[in-house]
Amino acid sequence: MSSVPEYFGSLVFDDRVMKAKLPYDVYVSLKKTMYEGGSLDTAVANAVADAMKEWAVEKGATHFTHWFQPLTGSTAEKHDSFITPSPDGGVIMEFSGKELIRGEPDASSFPSGGLRATFEARGYTAWDPTSHAFIKDKTLCIPTAFCSYGGEALDKKTPLLRSMQALSKQTLRVLKLFGMDDVKIVRPLVGPEQEYFLVDRAMFDKRKDLMFCGRTLFGAMPPKGQEMDDHYFGAIKPRVAEFMADLNEELWKLGVLAKTEHNEVAPAQHELAPIFTSASIATDHNQLTMEVMKKVAARHGLVCLLHEKPFDGVNGSGKHNNWSLCTDTGVNLLKPGDTPHQNARFLLFLCAVIQAVDDYQDLLRLSVATASNDHRLGANEAPPAVVSIFLGDELAAVLDAIENDAPYTGTEKIVMKLGAHVLPRFVRDTTDRNRTSPFAFTGNRFEFRMVGSSDSIACCNVMLNTAVAESLRQYADELEKADDFEGALHTLIQRTIRAHKRIVFNGNGYDDAWIEEATKVRGLLNLRTTPDALPYLTAPKNVEMLTRHKVYSETELKSRCEINLDNYRKTVHIEAKTMLDMARREILPAVTAYADTLALGVNARRAATGATVGGYEARQIEKLSVLAEKIDAAAEELDAALDVYHTMDDVQSSAEFIRDSVLPKMAALRAPCDAAEKLVPAKSWPFPTYAELMFGVK
Ligand code: ADP
Ligand code: MG
Repeated sequence: MSSVPEYFGSLVFDDRVMKAKLPYDVYVSLKKTMYEGGSLDTAVANAVADAMKEWAVEKGATHFTHWFQPLTGSTAEKHDSFITPSPDGGVIMEFSGKELIRGEPDASSFPSGGLRATFEARGYTAWDPTSHAFIKDKTLCIPTAFCSYGGEALDKKTPLLRSMQALSKQTLRVLKLFGMDDVKIVRPLVGPEQEYFLVDRAMFDKRKDLMFCGRTLFGAMPPKGQEMDDHYFGAIKPRVAEFMADLNEELWKLGVLAKTEHNEVAPAQHELAPIFTSASIATDHNQLTMEVMKKVAARHGLVCLLHEKPFDGVNGSGKHNNWSLCTDTGVNLLKPGDTPHQNARFLLFLCAVIQAVDDYQDLLRLSVATASNDHRLGANEAPPAVVSIFLGDELAAVLDAIENDAPYTGTEKIVMKLGAHVLPRFVRDTTDRNRTSPFAFTGNRFEFRMVGSSDSIACCNVMLNTAVAESLRQYADELEKADDFEGALHTLIQRTIRAHKRIVFNGNGYDDAWIEEATKVRGLLNLRTTPDALPYLTAPKNVEMLTRHKVYSETELKSRCEINLDNYRKTVHIEAKTMLDMARREILPAVTAYADTLALGVNARRAATGATVGGYEARQIEKLSVLAEKIDAAAEELDAALDVYHTMDDVQSSAEFIRDSVLPKMAALRAPCDAAEKLVPAKSWPFPTYAELMFGVK
């Protein structure tokens, strides 16, 4: 195997390949489109397509596909081969500019929330030249956006690209006021940390809940869970290490900057963090990472669980979305600078984020709302469902001083005056030790921790980008008119701190007292479940803001709300049906069979030794019988709730019914089943237990 620098990106049609393979004028015009947007002319598109095909065929590719990210949350592809018949009866390999730029997948089965019904039956895919083409499974994959013929986005990528454009536009207006005229484009940079579990394939195959739902629906806690904290950053077991090495290699070939890997808190839980890059590429790469994780796991006899809560009783998995804002001249606008001028700029951008998170806390919350993530948010491991910002005590004290024109009592006692004083150096070195905050400032970026491990990072970044664009739009409107820029800036920052400080919270987010204070005193939203959160997508203030920046149309918002609610109810419905199946066809037979075995045994022993023996067995049989009755009764109740659900049509009310009536009945069915697991001998239990699953990979 060649060295990492040699094979890194070897399956990517990246800048190095473009330079080498494209005629110079084609290269220049493609770069211009990649950088500034706009469309390619046919001649250029044909030349690019030809070079791509040559390169891909050299690498063994036989097919191409438009790779897109429909609203299912995963990625989609339909492969076409390059072959075209030649007159002599053979074939040649062909790929045209037209095929590169536009595709028409028969997309009628992707969720559209009524969009396609209202407009056109078919959707089309359009090349996104800002993300590089790559080869996967002998197929040239072209990253694309997926839209209806009316132009409505049917995917996660299109709104993301729109939001990046809106954010760049408003940021440039503000930067002009700071004299940064040389900046042409501003990009959100994102580094998503990906958590996952690994379990043994053979054990996975014996559990219908894992197969159908990606999470366990039953399972008593083993004697040991995560209480010793001995897994976090622990030595990586050989089989896992082999998986990680293989995963890195695959990702590096695809140009994914996989950087950090370690064991996480729960047994069998791990994390992979890439080096940050532009939000749209980070989104593509995260999708690829999840896909490659599953594929590589299979090669190692493992299954990679990306579900947010595979096991009850130990931590679930999230995806920390590290986000910053960077100019094409290399300035990170969220990094405190070295001069008073730079600090004033930093504080303004800090305010823009604080205001955005406060004004649009509902959008951030709902951008991560799924049935699976509901198990995490608010449980004692992940951030609560209440959105707040952690700034650290020191930065909070700086803001405090500005807010009150009071002396800043950090290292020096000074009255912080914007444009006159340099921020104390420690602000730059802020390290975040608060793991309970949903949205934490970590020195030069923000880390949004509510994202679920299986979710695309597109949605949360769309909301974050657009909400910050909205703050900046308001700031630019105000500051562009000001005669005294510095004075106006000071007033604006002070006013923003006063208006939005309620969203800043530096304490323990897991504390019940915080939830009480957040909701009762501060008036923050506590949207605990997906059906609570999603309706906010179409709240008038949100529609106004998202349409103003042309990120979503109102129709798109309505359709997304519906699709996500539908997804929520279907997910839980499948889980409920899986539970019934496992309880009735696996657990009950195991429980009664064991009771029968005990009864047969005790009868035989009584016959042999007289009537005095068998007290133990009788008591066990009694316990098992009671549990069997409870399991049966709980299953009947769940079944009855599903019967009601089947009669419901409206997506919002049926999602609420799922939350209020189905989920509690699932919990009620689980409890006696888990209790029974503790009585039945391990060898008679119908599927692998938590202990085997969590500690089974050596
Ligand atoms: P921690 O666990 O302390 O949060 P990690 O190394 O696991 O640290 O992850 C940090 C993530 O933040 C990485 O993906 C990294 O690339 C990303 N990151 C670092 N700096 C920035 C930045 N300026 N903007 C966006 N992401 C960043
Ligand atoms: Mg982190």
